[in-house]
Amino acid sequence: EPKRYDVVVVGSGGAGLAAAIQAHDEGASVLIVEKMPTLGGNTIKASAGMNAAETRFQRVKGIQDSKELFYAETLKGGGNKNNPALLRRFVENAPEAIEWLARRGIMLNDITTTGGMSIDRTHRPRDGSAVGGYLISGLVRNVTKRGIDVMLDTSVDDILFEQGEVRGVRLLTEEQESVMVEAKSVIVATGGFSANSAMVVKYRPDLDGFVTTNHKGATGGGIALLERIGAGTVDMGEIQIHPTVEQNTSYLISESIRGGGAILVSQQGKRFFNEMSTRDKVSAAIIALPEHYAYIVFDEHVRAKNKAADEYIARGLVTSASSPRELADKLGIDYHAFLATLERYNGFVEKQHDEDFGRTTALRAPINEGPFHAIQIAPGVHHTMGGVTINTETEVLNTENQVIAGAYAAGEVVGGLHGGNRIGGNAVADIIIFGSLAGHQAAMRAKRG
Ligand code: ADP
Repeated sequence: EPKRYDVVVVGSGGAGLAAAIQAHDEGASVLIVEKMPTLGGNTIKASAGMNAAETRFQRVKGIQDSKELFYAETLKGGGNKNNPALLRRFVENAPEAIEWLARRGIMLNDITTTGGMSIDRTHRPRDGSAVGGYLISGLVRNVTKRGIDVMLDTSVDDILFEQGEVRGVRLLTEEQESVMVEAKSVIVATGGFSANSAMVVKYRPDLDGFVTTNHKGATGGGIALLERIGAGTVDMGEIQIHPTVEQNTSYLISESIRGGGAILVSQQGKRFFNEMSTRDKVSAAIIALPEHYAYIVFDEHVRAKNKAADEYIARGLVTSASSPRELADKLGIDYHAFLATLERYNGFVEKQHDEDFGRTTALRAPINEGPFHAIQIAPGVHHTMGGVTINTETEVLNTENQVIAGAYAAGEVVGGLHGGNRIGGNAVADIIIFGSLAGHQAAMRAKRG
């Protein structure tokens, strides 16, 4: 007797968990299949937050924002390559996605900003901690409460497809057993392929040898699963490198540190770029330095407002000192150059005008409160913007742009939304918006019978 569900969700990152919860809440029977031993995927590592414009939490803080501006800034950040229909749906659904989480006890009511956004619209937990761990624990709590079936250490290695329709999946269990599961819909939420260096280098030979910030499950298998049933792909060569990755641990230093007021300084003790520019541009500027690395520098004021900073300190990634001079000495930077840089930057903060690099956001406070902190960083492979093609209802499209009945995809496995560069805070928005939408669509398909 084969197992039978309305919906099988492949992958347990934010997109998969949101899809499972939504499908369940609309009456569908749901199975979540996760190949790794734990839930949470790469989402658990998400740091900055979740972007949305015109939210209740922005209004509470008196932040004026508009969906139009969110759309325009995302499009600009993506090099005008974003799929306009997906982007429109994304921007329109974002405030409701913030509420979708809030109704499930996941409150993202502190707000910061990320590179490429002119307004504070990156929603994160109240205590300013990294969004990923908080989000996943909240989603897992919701999955557990609902008694949704979960199989860990189990991978989907084939999607069953007959007479033009998805019929289920073939699983490879922890015991290496092959098991068929019947399903009316399959939601593929398997994430990106940043941790598959062969696949990265196939599309981008220039990224050979780069570290990745991603968990080791980010191998892109879901793309191949869907291609086998005819799915199209888009933007496969659009791979994002994140500018601030600690190289010994591959640990990502959140953009929220810069968003909180940190600067980037070269080994020469100088600023060299607008720290709040988009990830592609900041990464290119770091790679162009003679040492190909830089330091992210901040003071006690920034640390106190960013829980993530405490985590970096606890992990031993941070060099701290009581004075700028001592910090420069510890980093082997010329003290005079470093002090001059801080003084000049602090003047820009006072004037709210960056004469050197045109930074217009997060000129929050002068960097003058000891202790002073620095983390040595360089770029790493962070996000794969390309992936399978879907329509605005998360239905997977074949290479002729026709719907593949019963196949849905959401999250990083999908291509097109982010164009040539994903803005920080837009991945978490992506997975909640399109994950819950995929759950809704799959539940509706189950009702249709
Ligand atoms: P997103 O951010 O789009 O939700 P994540 O990277 O957070 O994506 O999560 C994707 C999850 O899917 C990861 O936990 C990964 O281990 C899992 N996964 C990838 N491929 C498979 C597969 N073939 N079968 C089961 N799980 C998979």
